[in-house]
Amino acid sequence: RFYNELIEVRGNIRVFCRCRPLSPEETSKSYNSVVEFDPSKDTELQITCADSSKKIYKFDHVFSPKDDQEAVFTETLPIVKSVMDGFNACIFAYGQTGTGKTFTMEGTPECRGVNYRALEELFRIMKERMALMQYEFSFSMLEVYNEKIRDLLADNSDLNAKKLDIKQSAEGTQEVPGLAEVQVRSIDEVWEMHKSGGRNRSVGSTNANELSSRSHSLVRLMVKAENLVTGERSKSFLWLVDLAGSERAGKIEAEGERLKESQFINKSLSALGDVISALASKNSHIPYRNSKLTHLLQSSLGGDCKTLMFAQISPSLADLGETLCTLNFASRVR
Ligand code: ADP
Ligand code: MG
Repeated sequence: RFYNELIEVRGNIRVFCRCRPLSPEETSKSYNSVVEFDPSKDTELQITCADSSKKIYKFDHVFSPKDDQEAVFTETLPIVKSVMDGFNACIFAYGQTGTGKTFTMEGTPECRGVNYRALEELFRIMKERMALMQYEFSFSMLEVYNEKIRDLLADNSDLNAKKLDIKQSAEGTQEVPGLAEVQVRSIDEVWEMHKSGGRNRSVGSTNANELSSRSHSLVRLMVKAENLVTGERSKSFLWLVDLAGSERAGKIEAEGERLKESQFINKSLSALGDVISALASKNSHIPYRNSKLTHLLQSSLGGDCKTLMFAQISPSLADLGETLCTLNFASRVR
């Protein structure tokens, strides 16, 4: 590539598993963790199933509840950096609601997550390479809810206004005509926008957190680069994706609006699983068109694009069923 830095990303697809700590409520009920970590192996975890049988799962990296945001970002950094060298990258957080997808991606003001740290790192590299490279960053934020794409940076006073669609460009890449792309010059500027975009997410229930778990939230950073010596130019994308909760529909949701939402979520998450596992097994046909999510990300998944999936899990026995579903999903895409 035109910027001569060694890229440490091994394959193009990586799967990390992150287990959140037991919550204060779970601890107060003296729940035990069903997930065990071997401190000498950071690529494995062991689950104790309800019948006390044990299962081992392997990943590119496993983060236990003791690993903080910085430890997580250290492993994520090579993929983030590759975007500055002209590669497209997608980072996803997958898992049941309440397992820490938003914590991993967005984090909290005290414990910044991948999104903030990644954007901060891109600005840092931009400064560092100033003598050789010229970069321009544009920020977009969107949501996929019930297979509809919404621009979170557009004026959303009318929730039905501006439904976005995906078009193929002359170069064969997927574009979203009309999507707001705002040029950003500093981490503070981009983070303000990130916050205001977050406030525009679909709300249809009294519980905002519950509701946000029904849609996929996507942040996209477009990086335009020019090598000042050779004149070479590139355009690459970093996608940061907080996926909808992967939990199966409960009994109370089995009708009406909630059932429809669940069907859309299942469809898009399994489409994502199908695409990543087809890429991992080097199939010739990659079924991008089966959901809005995969179609939208088509140009940033596969080829020499970098893909990272965080499989987020809970340590609690009460969540064991969903934890096994997540681990099996993640094993399939690896
Ligand atoms: P999700 O987005 O998957 O629904 P959240 O990110 O909202 O889950 O996390 C649920 C709760 O657990 C939040 O209060 C969050 O702060 C906390 N949490 C999640 N992961 C961790 C972690 N690794 N360390 C500390 N707290 C966490
Ligand atoms: Mg969340």
